[in-house]
Amino acid sequence: MTTEYELDCATCGSSLTRAEIVADSLGFDEGTIEVAECSDCGGRYFPETTLNRLET
Ligand SMILES: [Zn+2]
Repeated sequence: MTTEYELDCATCGSSLTRAEIVADSLGFDEGTIEVAECSDCGGRYFPETTLNRLET
């Protein structure tokens, strides 16, 4: 199974790393949300698991 963490940044092509961000900054109630973050340009990608969670 391919996850967002194994993909490259769509902007600069660097490898994405797993990170946690504070959900409050996005207007969600949960404490933290896992994202795939580019350590080079700072681009953030939301993993499919997180999107699924937010839809419920
Ligand atoms: Zn990048």
